[in-house]
Amino acid sequence: METDLKICENRENSEYFEYFMEKALEQAEIAKNINETPVGCVIVENNKIIATGYNRRESDQNALAHAEIAAIKAACEKTGFWRLTECDLYVTLEPCPMCAGAIINSRIKRVIFGAFDKKSGAFGSVINLNDYPFNHKPDIISGVLEKKSGIILSEFFKDLRENK
Ligand SMILES: [Zn+2]
Repeated sequence: METDLKICENRENSEYFEYFMEKALEQAEIAKNINETPVGCVIVENNKIIATGYNRRESDQNALAHAEIAAIKAACEKTGFWRLTECDLYVTLEPCPMCAGAIINSRIKRVIFGAFDKKSGAFGSVINLNDYPFNHKPDIISGVLEKKSGIILSEFFKDLRENK
């Protein structure tokens, strides 16, 4: 996938993070369209998306089928390595403890997330795994396109309640 090189000149600016968060939001839309809680994820290496994932918990009837797990699995398959030390993971919702564990285990360099998850977020909301002495600590950039990432979720749950 080609990316806008001008945006990629500075990997630290908000435009760069928002560019890839939009791609994660596209993955969340895919989930929404199949009536899954809309959470999407992309993994970026050298300014390129190497893997994507979206929540498929209901479709697969699998508690492990979170967006981040799917993307990490795809990234390991793509690169041929379990270590993703040069990769950034973008996810529309703060990772849960399972996904935060997978992020630590795969040595993801940076995690960029959108909305905070007060019920199960493991990078600040319920707990912050980076406060504990694990052997890897990803850098965390939170609240990127936070509003947009949250609205897609709140609208999904609103529609669910209304269509009951
Ligand atoms: Zn998760």
